[in-house]
Amino acid sequence: MDRKRLIYLDNAATTFPKPRAVTDEVVRCMTQYGGNAGRGGHTLAMAAAEKIFECRCLAAEFFGVSDPERVFFTMNTTQGLNIVLKGLLREGDHVLISDLEHNAVFRPLYRLAKQGAIRFDCFPSMTGDPRQNAVRICAGIARRLQPETKLVVCTHASNLCSATLPIRQIGEFCHRHGLLFVVDAAQSAGHLPISVDEMGIDALCVPGHKGLYGPQGCGMVLLGKNVLPQTLIEGGSGAHSLEGEMPDLPPERYEAGTLPAVAIAGLCEGIRSVQGVGLETVFDHEKALYRLAREQLSERRGITLYAPEYEGATLLFNVDGLTSEQVGSLLNEDGICVRSGHHCAALGHRALGTPPHGAVRVSFGMYNQARDVEYLCQSLDRIRQEYGGV
Ligand code: PLP
Repeated sequence: MDRKRLIYLDNAATTFPKPRAVTDEVVRCMTQYGGNAGRGGHTLAMAAAEKIFECRCLAAEFFGVSDPERVFFTMNTTQGLNIVLKGLLREGDHVLISDLEHNAVFRPLYRLAKQGAIRFDCFPSMTGDPRQNAVRICAGIARRLQPETKLVVCTHASNLCSATLPIRQIGEFCHRHGLLFVVDAAQSAGHLPISVDEMGIDALCVPGHKGLYGPQGCGMVLLGKNVLPQTLIEGGSGAHSLEGEMPDLPPERYEAGTLPAVAIAGLCEGIRSVQGVGLETVFDHEKALYRLAREQLSERRGITLYAPEYEGATLLFNVDGLTSEQVGSLLNEDGICVRSGHHCAALGHRALGTPPHGAVRVSFGMYNQARDVEYLCQSLDRIRQEYGGV
């Protein structure tokens, strides 16, 4: 094996590399127009504000939001989910979440529940046949409804495997039952089509640094038409500076403190890059790599695949006789970057039945090629022969 090569298969954590247009724009922002947006009317502050507005408009168009003012920037998906969940929920509320949730959803709710403020329950998301999922998932939600149920929050795509949730149908269900609907799009933004307004989503929480190919350091929330969470963080917003209250309306209401203009400038070009390639092309490419990897790995003895029937960008597996951490570090010796262990998703590990040491995750992005899968398989063959007793 050529051990000098580096194969990046951890795109679910953050995509790498970033498109040239993104890195160029980051440099341009830092060298040509990086004033502090909204803090003064001089040329460089205005230029940064213009770029941020451009990104807001592009994101609104990309995620089907009719008014760019309903897009606000955060640090990451987690911060967006915290703002939305803590800003919408009130004492006594009941919440329904899927059994695949990341800790970005689970932990804020766990904390609120521990304080006695809310209660929450899980509904199953993998109901056997992926084609029947929508009906069965909505039936599972219906069975768990209580008079106090206020909100459903779920991930669109799992970060462990390629299972997705039918957010259009769940959105319709929520609106029929007068429930708020919050979507964690950490693993679907830039992979799957999403329209906030058409799908009845009240808040979509998105990272900039994963499928949208922006730099780390910024994310977004896209709000539905009639939702106005309480603020979680207060401070300077560049508007209504003489008042004690945060502005009434988004985006300024939620954007306290200096925005990460450099990351937002890069994100703007990241979204453009994905648009340029085409969402469908990106996803078809990832799915083709997934199918190839699934086929190759399932032919090998001593490899367990989790939920392989769901096809997408993420494949989860274990090698008999080794912990996932061992496999991860042996792959790393061959220059292959994957994630192993637990993936901040205790609920999902339980739903998938992974062993206590977790599992190895391979996640594809638009720059991966079939040869990366071949290389992964060669490395796994070496590992199985040398350490796995095959
Ligand atoms: N939700 C899911 C499903 C994720 O996979 C992740 C991160 O991997 C997050 C939320 C948190 O995203 P961020 O790191 O942008 O806060």
